[in-house]
Amino acid sequence: MKANLLGFDASGLERFFAEQGEKPFRARQVLRWLHQRHEGDFAQMSDLAKGLREKLVATAGVEAPQIVGDTRAADGTRKWLLKVDGANAVEAVFIPETSRGTLCVSSQAGCVLDCAFCSTGKQGFNRNLGTAEIIGQVWLANRLLKVDRQGARPVTNVVMMGMGEPLLNLDNVIPALRLMLDDNAYGLSRRRVTVSTAGVVPGIDRLRDECPVALAVSLHAPNDELRDRLVPVNRKYPLSELVKACNRYLDKAPRDFITFEYVMLDGVNDSDAHARELVALARRVRSKFNLIPFNPFPRSEFKRSSPERIRGFADILARAGLTATTRKTRGDDIAAACGQLAGDVADRTRRSVTLKEVRA
Ligand code: SAH
Repeated sequence: MKANLLGFDASGLERFFAEQGEKPFRARQVLRWLHQRHEGDFAQMSDLAKGLREKLVATAGVEAPQIVGDTRAADGTRKWLLKVDGANAVEAVFIPETSRGTLCVSSQAGCVLDCAFCSTGKQGFNRNLGTAEIIGQVWLANRLLKVDRQGARPVTNVVMMGMGEPLLNLDNVIPALRLMLDDNAYGLSRRRVTVSTAGVVPGIDRLRDECPVALAVSLHAPNDELRDRLVPVNRKYPLSELVKACNRYLDKAPRDFITFEYVMLDGVNDSDAHARELVALARRVRSKFNLIPFNPFPRSEFKRSSPERIRGFADILARAGLTATTRKTRGDDIAAACGQLAGDVADRTRRSVTLKEVRA
């Protein structure tokens, strides 16, 4: 089988070239062709010797997921459905803003965590995405979207907030993150790359040790009783453990706070009392809140909190001196908003079993 060069970070590519009897600096050249010029054709890589180009054609390939759907929302948000194998497709979403372009990237086909309010969780889990399939989303988006007038790349920020739990797929996610940060690839600063987790504590520690980037934690409840129901992985890693892990992470984090995501569910987690409990919790971690109005999906059993309720909730946090922003809902007319990504996943799990098996 040919090696897919999109699946290698710098050190992986150096190893690949060493095995071919080539100099390590070839890796840097090829990395630039692949990730800065989004070139997938070895014949075009004009600064490589002809013999090397021929060798690459014989031994390697550049395979990104196949785009099988491309939808644009009224607000400019764009969603791609990407086929990763015969049975599975995942989604990536590009969210343009005036001074930046954020790509929301998937890490798994489906998800085992089964959060009560999340459409991806309802699909079940099929498999981890490989590094090439993860970085391939960034590669495709940059290739398809036009560079702006200054020649800047369209994707300026990446959030690992698409389908799946990135901290349950770190073997593949970490090389992809390294490529996002690598100056010979995407060259993004650590603050512009965010990993979001439902709270997989050993994964938080591993990310801290191996590739610290901005961290977002999907909190969604201020106490274990409610969080056990909404985010079942809390039964394995309760809030006290999660808070400790966040504080360990902050030692190495590129930002001096953790972003707590909090989905606003009408009548479930959005009362004044919940907000006050949250204030007490937030005193234990340097954090900022991102309130996410719940995005409905077919057969979801929750309702979005009213704008007045969200404002009231945010006010309580603000009066306690916490920073709380409310996430703008983007792309909901094409089911591209948070929690609406479903892709097309061939479920192979029995979720009650897999939650017990969760290990980072
Ligand atoms: N598994 C990771 C990555 C997914 S990120 C995590 O849980 O953080 C997706 C974000 O959208 C998470 O904060 C998730 O809790 C939130 N979300 C899920 N379903 C949602 C919905 N229906 N409406 C709004 N936000 C939702």
